[in-house]
Amino acid sequence: MLPSEHLVRAREDLRRLVRIPSVSARGECLSECAHAVRDLLVAAGFRTEICAGEIGPFVVAEIGDGPLAVMVYNHYDVQPEDPAPLWKSPPFELSERDGRWYGRGVADDKGEFISRLEGWRLFREEHPGPLPFRFIWLIDGEEEIGSPSLETFLKTRFQDEKVDVCWWEYGEIDSTGRPIVLCGFKGVMAVELRCRTARADLHSSLGAVFDNPLWRLAAATASLRDGSGRVLIEGFYDAVRQPAQDGLDVAAKPPFSFDSLVQATGGQKVLDGIDEANFYAAMNFEPCMNVNGFSGGYAGEGAKTVVPAEGSVKIDFRVVPDQDPQHVVRLLRAHLDRLGFEDVELIVHDANVKPVRSSTDHWFIQDAREILEKHFERPVIVQPSSPASGTAHPFVEQLGADIVGIGLTHHGAMLHSPNENIIIEQFEAMIECSAALFRRFAERAAGMRSEIKSNDVFPMNGVTP
Ligand SMILES: [Zn+2]
Repeated sequence: MLPSEHLVRAREDLRRLVRIPSVSARGECLSECAHAVRDLLVAAGFRTEICAGEIGPFVVAEIGDGPLAVMVYNHYDVQPEDPAPLWKSPPFELSERDGRWYGRGVADDKGEFISRLEGWRLFREEHPGPLPFRFIWLIDGEEEIGSPSLETFLKTRFQDEKVDVCWWEYGEIDSTGRPIVLCGFKGVMAVELRCRTARADLHSSLGAVFDNPLWRLAAATASLRDGSGRVLIEGFYDAVRQPAQDGLDVAAKPPFSFDSLVQATGGQKVLDGIDEANFYAAMNFEPCMNVNGFSGGYAGEGAKTVVPAEGSVKIDFRVVPDQDPQHVVRLLRAHLDRLGFEDVELIVHDANVKPVRSSTDHWFIQDAREILEKHFERPVIVQPSSPASGTAHPFVEQLGADIVGIGLTHHGAMLHSPNENIIIEQFEAMIECSAALFRRFAERAAGMRSEIKSNDVFPMNGVTP
């Protein structure tokens, strides 16, 4: 059981942070919140630094030294509170109802940060003195607006630095209270195809002579994918890394049934070839392409017979390791040109989030699974990859980190929505899990250190010459 003073202290710290409306979309109170976060980390024994970002500053906190390097990533910025009238209590006040805390940022991501911080304090009370591993805590102030400075910041601030693992800013808990260990994210790219075929809309009688931009866009779009969801762009799958056996084994046992997914989402048209046996593997490992929306021409009431002058279609791709979104853009352009759609303009809205995936056999994941199981008293789900995306690749590319997401974002947390909340019991469990993880890092580092020492005595890797 967590001593109650820890929960009280964590609640008060969370209350203080929630009170600061650090909305990055409005550039509001970011410096104030960064300083509040910094003060907490200074009091917890870290060397700290506040570093400029494009919109909001980063807080960097460091401590310890040793053969193991761990980075914890969080963010202190939040989404706007809109629509404000739908909140049952003021968005920037921590309120307690029915075993939950409510307020903007209690889950995403101030609650995650404070649960880890309290875990750290708990660990340090038991283990003061020199920390046997290198620990870097990075708290972003621009996550909710896509972390525009993160990649450059990591490159400049941590130029020659390598870390073994990066504990991602959040993790999930399913509707039955089972913690999910996230081992990766898909990358994402969002594009738009535009086509113009006339100066202005034409009378539809001229459709006997002139082509139609929506027709061309429909044809171009239809050429990109088949009914099973397979993307038909030449070379699209060339870079796809075959999932490792451990990941395939994990994905072969879905933590929920296909039917429950259908029920929960209300999805009614399943792709050809997708069934109970392979839906979860597809969610984890398959790239996909989606049409987000068509626009152009007349879509109002009644009929209007017209050949539109222009139209557009928005499309997104979720890509998997080692597909590079920028490269997929080039393949898409080549595909359109090859099929005679040179006149279709390709606008790239986002092609910056690359996919990442750690091995589900990674020691951190094994440790996390054991610790979460103990404190949540439930089986733990290891998920090879989120079907969604996060800006995690700079940590992998720049720092060489394996990414792992563990945290307390539960099924009904209402992230980015009114009445964002966390379940207090889970927050408490996560404090204990964090303390146990820090303990485990220290033990691992001590083990690595003694291995290095014994190698010093026997230079041939422990074998007496
Ligand atoms: Zn968020």
